[in-house]
Formats: sequence, C-alpha cells, structure tokens
Amino acid sequence: MKVVDQKYAIPSFNLTRQNEGLAEKILGSLSKIIAQGSFILGENVKILEEEIAAYCGTRFAVGVASGSDALYLSLLACGVGPGDEVITTPFTFFATAGAIARAGATPVFVDIDPETWNIDPARVEEKITARTRAVIPVHLYGCPADMDPILVLAAKHGLKVIEDAAQALGTAYKGKRVGALGEAGCFSFFPTKNLGAFGDGGMVVTSDPEIADRVRLLRVHGARPKYYHHLLGCNSRLDELQAAVLRVKLPHLDGWNQRRREIAARYGHLLQSVADAVGDDLRLPTAPDYAYHVYHQYTVQTPRRYELRAFLQEHGVGTAVYYPLPLHLQPVFAPLGYRDGDFPAAEAAAREVLSLPMFPELTDAEVQYVAATVTEFWA
Ligand SMILES: *Cc1c(COP(=O)(O)O)cnc(C)c1O
Repeated sequence: MKVVDQKYAIPSFNLTRQNEGLAEKILGSLSKIIAQGSFILGENVKILEEEIAAYCGTRFAVGVASGSDALYLSLLACGVGPGDEVITTPFTFFATAGAIARAGATPVFVDIDPETWNIDPARVEEKITARTRAVIPVHLYGCPADMDPILVLAAKHGLKVIEDAAQALGTAYKGKRVGALGEAGCFSFFPTKNLGAFGDGGMVVTSDPEIADRVRLLRVHGARPKYYHHLLGCNSRLDELQAAVLRVKLPHLDGWNQRRREIAARYGHLLQSVADAVGDDLRLPTAPDYAYHVYHQYTVQTPRRYELRAFLQEHGVGTAVYYPLPLHLQPVFAPLGYRDGDFPAAEAAAREVLSLPMFPELTDAEVQYVAATVTEFWA
C-alpha cells in the first residue's frame, strides 16, 4: 500500500523530505540489528518503550504491532469483553470502534462537538448503562478531546478511559501529555502519523502495572514463559527494525510538532479574511484553551468540499477527507441499528471536512500557495 500520493506539486503529505535527512542514521541503526540478528522484542523495542513512557509521563509503555492492536489489547487488558458496552465517537478512523467489536463488546456512539470534531462530553452520561465498561475518547487531528468531564463521569460510574491518541503523540491537555490521562493511551506509528515508522507499529502507555503486564502477555499469545499460555491474546509485537527507525526520529518529534503548529498558525492567518467573508461556507480549525494542538491534520469544514477539492487539485494541491462516512453508518455496523440522522454533527463533518496539506517539511511558500488557492476559490 502506497501511503503517499506524489502526483501533486504540493501533496497532502510527503515522507521523503523527512527521511532524506535521517537516512544515514537510520541505515546505521538497521545495519547493527541485521548484524546482531535480534529481530523480535530486542533492545530497541525495550528502550523505545522507556523513551515513550518518559515522553508521555506514564510508568509503562508496551510496543505492539499497530495502533489498532494497541486499542484492541488495551480493551482486553481492561477486562472488556462480550456483553460489555464501550462509548466512543462515530467520527474517527474505523479502528476505534473496530477494536471494541473485535474485543466482543458493543460500540455505543455519542455525537461530536461540531467545534472540535471530538466526542461531546455533555452527551456521554445519557449513554451510560449497567453494561458500560469503558469510554474511548479520540484526540482527532491532534486536538485533545475535552478530558476532564469524561474523567469525572468515568470515576462516577466506574468506567475505564482508554485514549485513542493515534493522531496525537505530543498533544497536551491542560499541560499534560495525552495518553497519560486515562487508564491507557494508544498510539500508532503508521508512516503518516506524527511519529511514523517504515511500516506498521503501535504502543500502549499506562501507569497501571496490571494493564501493562496484561498487554505484555497478550502481545505474545498470553504466554509466560514461552509455550505456557494464560490469556487468549495474539501475535502483536512492535517490530525491532521499526523501533530502531522510531528511536532515530523521536528526538525530532517536538520540533516537527512545533513546525506543524507554525504552519497551522500561518494557514489561519492567511485564511482568516476569506473565512470571515464567507461565513458558514468555510470554517477553520480552532484550538480550545485546554489544548496544545499538534495539527496531525489541518482540517477545514465547508459545504462546498468537493468543489474546493477539485479546484485545489486543478491547481496541483493535494487534499484528503478524514473521514467520509461516520462509523454508525458503516455497513459492517448495520446490525447495531443506527440510522442516518442519529448524529447530525458527525454526519455534517463527514460530508464537509477537508484536510489541507500538512507535514513539518512543508515550506512557507507552499503554505502561502495553498492558502492563496483556497482564497481564489471564493474570489
Ligand atoms: C491511525 C489510527 C488508528 C489505527 O492505527 P494503525 O496503526 O493504522 O492500526 C486508530 N485510531 C485513529 C484515530 C487513527 O488515526
């Protein structure tokens, strides 16, 4: 699968610019692993786990095969299973709810706050039942969900909070890094994420020793020692070669995230006048007071999304739609019985969001060109 589209003069995402500068160091690290022949759960995975735990401010981190598995194994480690309900947002990547269903539980959706596109905490309590076991807030596009009201409800009703922080490594909520706010935090190292590997990878962070221990067991088919199985897990380990790539990149993450914020500020500055002029026709992203937003995506909302997208494409600018169909309307979840109209804010977002080019190596001139092209569309 090719994750980067190079047919545009300004692609929505580009990996080669970042990798060029790091190639030598990464290849050196990979050569060492090849020479040693230690490919599974070696030193790099162990050290990266320590580095990510320290970065997030949690006691533990456990490397797994993907962000999807980080969610799935966190749910299992929290004891979620058949008969349980887990509350989450319908406006996210499929894996969030897919993990709940894979654990045998039922996803229960709650509409989003149209300003942030994240789960609306004011709508969570009405969905809590005797079967509810956990809540999965998603920090979509790198903006933290409003966690305090969710944590209060979770404490009141005895629910686990598992953060889907796949798009949000480095994001902070009221000064605290996400992933460390609930019982467990889940990260993805898919190549296009803010810290991207050369393939799939993920991590669970937690300060709960039992959750950490269970995820460690679950990722090796529940075996301890080898061939003696205590839990029904799966094979889901962070690859040693990927961990080595990630360790070279991690020291650059904060700088890259700062550059994303700078690009977002520049887009905001350049697009404010057109947004003011066209009113509801164009909404720019905002960062709430509690947010240190790392702009995994710079996403705008417009009812004229496909026209704008086509116009940008004609002018050599790539864009992306995350995500075109909310999860409650996905064919695979039809048995859950949701209908079109159940979650108006999520449905409007799915119809209207468009992500502009965003990656740290984007130049100021490119940002300027993208903004000028968006402005020209409404001229
Ligand atoms: C990317 C992503 C995931 C899944 O991560 P993978 O590593 O691709 O399995 C889960 N949730 C969200 C919100 C994501 O963006």
